[in-house]
Amino acid sequence: MNRRNFLRASVAAGVAAGATSTELLAAYEAATTVRSEVEAVTGDGRAIALEKAAVQELQAGLRGDVLMPGNPGYDDSRRVLNAGIDKYPALVVRPAGVTDVRHAVRFASDNELLLAVKCGGHSWAGKSTCDGGMQIDLSTLRHVRVDPRMRRAWVAGGSLLGEMDRETMALGLVTTAGTVSHTGVGGLTLGGGFGRVARRFGLALDNVRAVDIVTADGELRHADAEQHPDLYWGVRGGGGNFGVVTNFEFGLHPMKREVLAGELMFPIDRARDVLRVYADMLETAPDELYVDAIIMNPPGGAPGMAAVSICYSGAPARADAVLSPIRKLGKPLQDTVAARDYVEVQRRFDNDDPRSVGEYMKSGFIDALPDALIDRVVEGFEGDPGRSTTLFFQHSGGAIGRVPVDATAFAHRDAVASMFILISWPLGSVSDDDVRYLRNYWGTLEPFTDGWYTNEISNEPQRVVNSNYQGNFERLLEIKKRYDPHNLFRLNANIRPMA
Ligand code: FAD
Repeated sequence: MNRRNFLRASVAAGVAAGATSTELLAAYEAATTVRSEVEAVTGDGRAIALEKAAVQELQAGLRGDVLMPGNPGYDDSRRVLNAGIDKYPALVVRPAGVTDVRHAVRFASDNELLLAVKCGGHSWAGKSTCDGGMQIDLSTLRHVRVDPRMRRAWVAGGSLLGEMDRETMALGLVTTAGTVSHTGVGGLTLGGGFGRVARRFGLALDNVRAVDIVTADGELRHADAEQHPDLYWGVRGGGGNFGVVTNFEFGLHPMKREVLAGELMFPIDRARDVLRVYADMLETAPDELYVDAIIMNPPGGAPGMAAVSICYSGAPARADAVLSPIRKLGKPLQDTVAARDYVEVQRRFDNDDPRSVGEYMKSGFIDALPDALIDRVVEGFEGDPGRSTTLFFQHSGGAIGRVPVDATAFAHRDAVASMFILISWPLGSVSDDDVRYLRNYWGTLEPFTDGWYTNEISNEPQRVVNSNYQGNFERLLEIKKRYDPHNLFRLNANIRPMA
């Protein structure tokens, strides 16, 4: 929290308690003054002590803030969406601009600090926070500018999807974003970016025309098809491996605000029927139709559900024909499909996403949904009143699959969907049995998968991470060695530059 915001937030409480603004400012200074050397951790896990003077110099060189444990705003920065992650960086930098980002990166690089970069904080494994290192919290860099004539949007590297959707759609334009609006543009785009219009317009990263990126040497580089084309290629699928992206330039597409969207929910004993229809739709759906399939057992013993969640953004006159395969499933328990505002649809699952509690997840891409996989999904799915159990398929294909596999660093162009299984629980209540169940269940499904979404990286062994980049790995490795030879940016689906 910078000085002005701190004062604004505190003034009411402070005045009520009889404090003057001078006293408030003094309290702020006291809370944020560096008093001693700072214990920290390097990228390879060594404990080090940062000299007090060095940290003071870092602080003095910024327009934004350096926060340490106990400072106002520190907890907001260090926390991420997955409440099961509870990490404490030694330092948090909240940049007020690109120059601050460069300054922070140089400091981290010079001191070989473990470095985390946070945008929306949605990394399931908590890659955007760390214990003992430095976190650069980009939530202070949120801004979207749209040029409707050029059909371009410039989006600051800490922005959230909802901000981008709102600004572009207000001008009748859109680019692909994910399905939950408080996800970060940064993490989502650099690893892929699946969403309700991706089958029409490609992944979020397919729409990136240029980035401004601060690389490990602290330099700011503009990367596009002409300048630093290697970086431009690598950031589109290589995640945060190459630096801090401070600005994205996206291509936009005209689209009507009104789409047909909602869910059709059936009792869980219809799961096999729902998945068979879904399998057909994965083969036949037009690009304008996006369908996710979900099997879910809520906690507390409430009845389970098999559902499809759709978004159709094509011609209204074709809607009935396009949705007819789903309608053949018969009358659902609940049908919420209706004409809706696209920006509203993008916000529909913001607050009740099960991933906002403690969770454990496995995921992989599938090239088809054969009967043998449907059988394993249905037969192995077990609800439990102590947890929420969810299996879902996120729709891919369409325009995503028409991009050549080596056009960007994102390799998984053949997938028709991503398959996820996740359990979530009120914090503290998960048992080893729950995790064991999920692992065993996943063991029966994984043989049907071909790679996984790098944005869902957990703690996979290095050889598994490398092989998941498939034929694009060697080229990514060369780019990593060029721009980040000491692996400053390692909290991601890491491409290790050294043996
Ligand atoms: P963060 O945790 O902030 O960052 C994730 C990673 O990206 C970290 O390694 C971080 O260092 C890096 N990073 C972030 N910003 C930058 C930057 N500006 N420069 C350099 N590196 C950066 N994915 C989809 O494709 N489609 C979906 O519909 C979708 N829905 C989701 C819904 C929920 C509720 C959740 C939790 C996840 C969802 N995801 C989806 C997965 C999502 O793509 C990843 O979790 C993604 O990493 C989130 O990005 P973030 O910026 O919010 O995360």
